[in-house]
Amino acid sequence: MDVPHPLPPLARSAHVAYVKHALANLPGSMVSLDASRMAIVFYCVGSLDVLGVLQTETSETDRTSWRTWIWEQYVAGRYGTGFKPGPFMSSSSSNARPAVPCEQDPPHIIMTYTALLSLAILRDDFTRLNRPGLLHFLGACQNKDGSFSSMPFGGGDSDLRNLYCAFCICSLLGDFSSINVERAISFIGSCRTYEGGYGQLPSCEAQAGTTYLAIAALRLAPPAPRPRLTTAERVRSEHWLIHSQDSLSGGFRGRTGKAPDACYCFWGGAALQILGAQDKLNAHEFTQFIASCQFRFGGIAKTPGQHPDPYHTYLSLAAAAMYAPRLDQNEQRYGQWEFAPFDPLVNARVDVVRWARERIPAPRRH
Ligand SMILES: [Zn+2]
Repeated sequence: MDVPHPLPPLARSAHVAYVKHALANLPGSMVSLDASRMAIVFYCVGSLDVLGVLQTETSETDRTSWRTWIWEQYVAGRYGTGFKPGPFMSSSSSNARPAVPCEQDPPHIIMTYTALLSLAILRDDFTRLNRPGLLHFLGACQNKDGSFSSMPFGGGDSDLRNLYCAFCICSLLGDFSSINVERAISFIGSCRTYEGGYGQLPSCEAQAGTTYLAIAALRLAPPAPRPRLTTAERVRSEHWLIHSQDSLSGGFRGRTGKAPDACYCFWGGAALQILGAQDKLNAHEFTQFIASCQFRFGGIAKTPGQHPDPYHTYLSLAAAAMYAPRLDQNEQRYGQWEFAPFDPLVNARVDVVRWARERIPAPRRH
């Protein structure tokens, strides 16, 4: 019997230092990511949370200033209310107020999803959230074919990422009334491929990231009289996902025939968790690959030897958190790979999702 290589240590303190540095001062090489600054805040704050150090490694002043910055990106218009990526397009960022009416500076559906999760991680009370406005915004992003654009009235990209974010926000609100769920489900079906995965759009090649988004959205949808996936469809999806794990490195591929990449450990690994097929994945080799992508000065890269970024750091830690309970408990250094329970459907710690589900819906009248 093969003896597996011992798991390398998780460089917790180096990753904490990397993420704190990224939060304070993103390097110039990432200036192209300015249009998704809200998402980068989520990856950084989420990394500290998955590592279990948010309360000990950051001050109350830091956490308050991050909550304040997120709410400064909250805008309103005829499309409803939501969050924009950052202040870069705003003419009034220095004196921004919540829900500043501004038609030229619309909210973005992915940034709204990452803002809500970041606020839940930071234990915001959501008293400033305009629920009807948020529902109206989600409805304004849906297209005739059931897909969702990233911005209202057909603005920005239209693909499964936006659809997943819309379903996730509706699920957190406990209200799907402003969108056409069945039309969205039929759009998801049109993205399914012969391999059992899903492409970003109809007729696109299957990709592990969009396969996660499709499978998670089907699970987040309100219950239907029949399962959203037939047994044959579910088995085929599982089969494709399991074969996306590279037998040599343990990492996951995004597409058939491509090299493994740490972020796909999350997308493929989380999709298998949602399908209830997590035991079919080799958790030791999976974690070994993530360990090999750690950069020696902190942060996690897409492949071994590359430079890290907040996106791959967060998704790698989240992937490790989901599969840590499946590692051999007797393994030396296992303790460094222990994490709080993680929710693969919403993509946050279980306690964060509980906080969000209790406070994001409209407060109950007594
Ligand atoms: Zn990647």
